[in-house]
Amino acid sequence: TKAYSTLAGLDAGKVKVSPSSLLKPLTASQDLVFGRTFTDHMITVDWNDRQGWLAPEIRPYENLSLAPSAIVFHYATECFEGMKAYKDKQGRIRLFRPDMNMARMQNSTSRICLPYVHMDDRWIPTERGYSLYLRPTMIGTQEALGVKSPTEAKLFVIGCPVGPYYKTGFAAIKLLATTEYVRAWPKGTGDAKIGANYASGLLPQRLAAQEGYQQNLWLFGEDHQLTEVGAMNVFILWQNDNDDLELITPPLDGSILPGVTCDSILQLARSWDEFKVSERTLTMPELRRAIHQGRVREVFGAGTACVVSPVKAIGYQGEDLPVPLDPTDPQAQAGPYTKRFYDAILDIQYGDVDSPWSVVS
Ligand code: PMP
Repeated sequence: TKAYSTLAGLDAGKVKVSPSSLLKPLTASQDLVFGRTFTDHMITVDWNDRQGWLAPEIRPYENLSLAPSAIVFHYATECFEGMKAYKDKQGRIRLFRPDMNMARMQNSTSRICLPYVHMDDRWIPTERGYSLYLRPTMIGTQEALGVKSPTEAKLFVIGCPVGPYYKTGFAAIKLLATTEYVRAWPKGTGDAKIGANYASGLLPQRLAAQEGYQQNLWLFGEDHQLTEVGAMNVFILWQNDNDDLELITPPLDGSILPGVTCDSILQLARSWDEFKVSERTLTMPELRRAIHQGRVREVFGAGTACVVSPVKAIGYQGEDLPVPLDPTDPQAQAGPYTKRFYDAILDIQYGDVDSPWSVVS
């Protein structure tokens, strides 16, 4: 078990294990709906500013009991992570780059997470595309109205078995380049995975859905810089103004969530060395011009849940800008590089290709 120093004082060795006496029936893989089925157990760890971290507990999945005055309900003192556990052909459990998630959460839950995934081993599906989605969460719990930093907190980890995002192959989506709402801004909290960042996106998401768009393309600034897609990082593969093939994702300027998938795609792309790879700003007017000139090859979102999400159109200022998928196959729902990133990452996640990114636990 790897030790992470960031959760100072959280001692996985002190874990108390209370197995569930009543194991739930497993849900058949084909019936899994993302985020609806939960495993038998969860981890909880309490913290307060006098004693620090108390002993972690692995115990049955059940409701939490919190005071109505607990600060999380009033001031959104909540952060979370999203990562997955996979089973390889030998039945071993593998986590994909868990150090990245733990670094992002700033406080590592890894030392308690590992024994936990073994307790709920039977909930990790084995088919390719299926996995156990893990949700480490931390909330402020002290009973106190008044905007103040937490003096008491609870960390918990729950898990839900999930199926492939695309059960019948990829399904390319349409984005609405959103000009009336902003997801995040420089010097704000966009680069943290805190619940408060997501609540404000719900209304714009519903408005986009009413117009037939599956996700918002979040923009920032008067010049409409691309930032993210829904809860994913965004990638554009195009022939740039110098006619070089270039993969672009916006730079991590503090308002963009540093995605584990995004970092993995950048590293893979640089290792392939087949096109230029840039972390730089791109604006909607630049992208629109390139689409009109036929210079855009592929656009996709990237995140843990779906790995990649191909984009077929972007609505912008009343115009639907078409994005090509695969020019060689009119039926295809993903471009060739989008598909190649997807396959390369899945091969690593399931241990079919050796990589330090896949950590056997
Ligand atoms: N951006 C946002 C806003 C997200 O919520 C997520 C999902 N965590 C991502 C990007 C993608 O991050 P990751 O690849 O680590 O899942």
